[in-house]
Amino acid sequence: VPELPEVEIAARNLRRWAEGRRVERVRTDPRAARIFRPGDRAGFARAVAGCRLASVERRGKHLLVHLASPKGKPVGLWSHLGMTGKWVRRDASDPAPAHSRARLDLDDGHALHYLDPRLFGRLRIVPDAGFARVPEIGALGPDPIHEGIDPGRLAARLAATRRAVKVALLDQSVLAGVGNIHASESLFGARIDPRRRGGSLTEREVRVLARAIATSLRRGIDTQDGPEIAYVEEPGAENPFRVYAREGEPCPRCRKERIRRIVQAQRSTFFCPRCQDDRRGRRA
Ligand SMILES: [Zn+2]
Repeated sequence: VPELPEVEIAARNLRRWAEGRRVERVRTDPRAARIFRPGDRAGFARAVAGCRLASVERRGKHLLVHLASPKGKPVGLWSHLGMTGKWVRRDASDPAPAHSRARLDLDDGHALHYLDPRLFGRLRIVPDAGFARVPEIGALGPDPIHEGIDPGRLAARLAATRRAVKVALLDQSVLAGVGNIHASESLFGARIDPRRRGGSLTEREVRVLARAIATSLRRGIDTQDGPEIAYVEEPGAENPFRVYAREGEPCPRCRKERIRRIVQAQRSTFFCPRCQDDRRGRRA
């Protein structure tokens, strides 16, 4: 599942492949209507065809693509990768890859394909590229890579919640871009029990956690950067993470305990019960 690092890599690739290029033709998959909601496939194709790709921004897990219409008017393309979405580039003459839901033919002989087997992603036209007016984007908290993590702000947000710290970290208004994988990874890095109530963390623990989140996201970007990202859930994909999806494996730090999986707010959490032992028992 894409989180900040995978979306950052997608943004870099789209810049490399398409900045300054004109979209000559757009094709969409009739089975993928839900991706384009509340708009529709025809409206999407009409808005994007003929535009030049000016720039690509990333905010949290959101791709904000700035296009310019043939008349020079700004057009926004909001791309959220959902659970299984990814952007790839092929030669225009190559057959479309499996699960290609939108195909943008560029003026350099390449085609960009948006692939999404499970159709949880979104492609939406944002008039005048007014992305801040999109509620999901306007509500985002600071981006940990672009803006850094302010431990004071993070502490204040965690202090205000009765939820477990792992669950609080998934709230995109706390930090934009942290998802299930990097919440588990950074709590492991900071040696904090994911079941602790957010408000029970000390100032020092929040500072350590802020650093661990930044480290985990940067490591994710560095280890996965490339033109064809593979999500850890895909068959045959490597698992670059230390605890995520490693239930039952020996803890890579203490080697004395096995990684445990628990469910919090309907999502899996992975942790080491020894390294992340909460002796003070302040669980949510
Ligand atoms: Zn351990």
